[in-house]
Amino acid sequence: MAGYNHLFIPGPTNVPERVRMAMNVPMQDMRAPDFGDLTIPLFEKVKQVFRNETGRVFLYPSSGTGAWEAAIQNTLSPGDKVLMSRFGQFSHLWVDMARRLGLDVDVIDRPWGEGVPVEAYAERLRADRAREYAAVFVTHNETATGVTSDVGAVRKALDETDHPALLMVDGVSSVGSIPFDQEGWRVDCCVSGSQKGFMLPAGLGILSISKWALDAHKRAGFPRTFFSFEDMMAHNDNGYFPYTPATQLLRGLDVSCDILLEEGLETVWARHHRLASGVRAAIDAWGLKLCAAEEKWQSDTVSAVVVPEEVDARDVIARAYTAYDTSLGTGLSKVMGKVFRIGHLGWLNEGMVNTALAVAEMAMIDSGIAIEPGSGVGAAIDHFTRTPAGKIAEA
Ligand code: PLP
Repeated sequence: MAGYNHLFIPGPTNVPERVRMAMNVPMQDMRAPDFGDLTIPLFEKVKQVFRNETGRVFLYPSSGTGAWEAAIQNTLSPGDKVLMSRFGQFSHLWVDMARRLGLDVDVIDRPWGEGVPVEAYAERLRADRAREYAAVFVTHNETATGVTSDVGAVRKALDETDHPALLMVDGVSSVGSIPFDQEGWRVDCCVSGSQKGFMLPAGLGILSISKWALDAHKRAGFPRTFFSFEDMMAHNDNGYFPYTPATQLLRGLDVSCDILLEEGLETVWARHHRLASGVRAAIDAWGLKLCAAEEKWQSDTVSAVVVPEEVDARDVIARAYTAYDTSLGTGLSKVMGKVFRIGHLGWLNEGMVNTALAVAEMAMIDSGIAIEPGSGVGAAIDHFTRTPAGKIAEA
């Protein structure tokens, strides 16, 4: 097909040219005496993106799922009781992993479209006088449903009950895109991956931990090898890794952190909010709804659009791909066929969002959904032209 193809899935996201160029280098010796010139400053830059001032980061040659596992194995012990909630495919999978590893999971199920039930968490924490919960888990941005939860409110619930549980956060589709404050929220383990807000190919599991997580690590009883913090620290302190690192991805990460920090995290967050608000204006103009059940949960990195009941969202996605060379995100598991997702995170601007909306509109019309041509794109244009760039738009 002539022209560029377009990628509007919620990860992997579009890779900036500067990042691609930085990775286009000959293979390098990961034991060279100057390897630490790349990695030691890189660890510090990555910490800045998490707003982690007093902890440290680990860069595993894995994906986000590996960093989920690293967080559990290195800070908890088999049989530990933990508090989790499940309201989408990724929160579901983290619960599944925790159970398969042998944690005693107290899980609160919420309808898909809702987020972390902060009040229910607070109640359980208040009732836990024996301080049995070793950790509380939060999926910050549920990518399957386009729902963002309030991590700060969970920290508040822990503080109000003076509960010592670790705070474990999945920031795979939030860090580097929407407000995240590891130090302020005292997040003990924050899991991320390279292919979303970090604007890289998949291949790095990024884990940012607090100094309290390092203390917990000394008591943690899970066996671990590949993901071992000890092994990582022993090598990372000198700029090296216990095994072959993904050197090209580290080169790319170095530049993607530069790009994020040069733009400024607040500006990056405001850009994501502005672009997401444009997408939401379009969805509204189409007369469709988001999967996110309430405004407070609407994600600024991904929108899951609910299609009319008589339509299969997979047809919309297939049409966008085959006729218009554009990838939209599919519905996962329970919402398969019911939603399509527009990923609006990473290296993205208004023109790209308008393209995503125009293609979604064409694919929906082709799939038999009654949409006024141009209605969504028009609403987004109206939104973008009324809201000066760089300012946080009214929702
Ligand atoms: N958590 C969330 C919120 C995700 O969106 C994803 C992937 O999309 C994962 C975890 C799993 O990450 P990975 O696919 O990099 O293993």
